[in-house]
Amino acid sequence: MNGKPIERESARLFDETGVHETPRSSVSERARISATLALLPPATRSLLDVGCGRGALLHETTVPFAVGTDLARRGIRHVRRPAVISSMLALPFPDRSFDVVLCAETLEHLDPVDLPRATAELRRVAARAIVVTVPYAEDPLAWSHRCPACGTVFHLHGHRSVFTPERLTDFFPGAARYEVRGAWPVRPMSPALLRFRTGMLGLWKYTRHTRCPECGNQAFENHERRLLYRAVDALNDVLHPRRSRFRWLLLRVELRPETR
Ligand SMILES: [Zn+2]
Repeated sequence: MNGKPIERESARLFDETGVHETPRSSVSERARISATLALLPPATRSLLDVGCGRGALLHETTVPFAVGTDLARRGIRHVRRPAVISSMLALPFPDRSFDVVLCAETLEHLDPVDLPRATAELRRVAARAIVVTVPYAEDPLAWSHRCPACGTVFHLHGHRSVFTPERLTDFFPGAARYEVRGAWPVRPMSPALLRFRTGMLGLWKYTRHTRCPECGNQAFENHERRLLYRAVDALNDVLHPRRSRFRWLLLRVELRPETR
C-alpha cells in the first residue's frame, strides 16, 4: 500500500501542489477524457481506474460499477465513486476482477524500472480489456522548468517515462487486438529551438502549480509571458505550421478469451 520511493514522491507532488484542487479540466483535457471513454468496449459492466486522481474520468463514465484507486490522497477526497488509496505496483484486487482496467495519464509518472510490474498489475486485474493513455512521445524538456533557488531542472508534472506507440504496446504482449489512437493534434516543437529557449535564453514552460521537487520552492516566474518566449513559439509555428503530432497517445488492449 505504501508504494516505492519514486511512486510515493510522485503522489506527494500531487498532494503538496494541490493540482487536484483545480475545479475543472481544460478543453484539451476534456477532449482526452471523451477520447478515452470512447475506447471502453461496449457493454462494459465493471471498470477500475488506476491513478484516478480527482475522478474526472470516473465521474463521466456510465459504466455501472466503476472503482478508482490512487496513491495521492488529496485527489481521492473528490471522487464520488468507490475509491481506495493504493500503490499501482500491488493492486488490492483479485485476478480478472474488472471487465476493463483503465490507466490514464499515470504510467508516465513511474520510474522506467517499475513499468513492467505496473503494467503486469493492470493486466492481472483486467478480464476483457486494458485502456491506457500517456503523453504522445513527449520531449520532457518541453515541460521542464529550472528552479531559480537551487538550479534543479525538473518536469513540471513529475513525468519520468516517455512512450511511443511501439514502446507502450510492447508492455502488453500476446493480446488479441490493439487499438492505438492519438488525441489533440499539436504542432511539433523543434528540439533545437526548445534547447535554445531553455539552455540559451533560460526561459521555461510554466504552470501555476509549479513546485521544485528538490528544495520545495514555489516562487516561479511565468516565462511564457516574456516576449522572447513568445517570439520562439512564433518562430516554431512558422517552421511547423501543421498540427502533425498528438498531445496524447491512447491504447486499448483487448485480451484473448483464454486468458480471461
Ligand atoms: Zn529548487
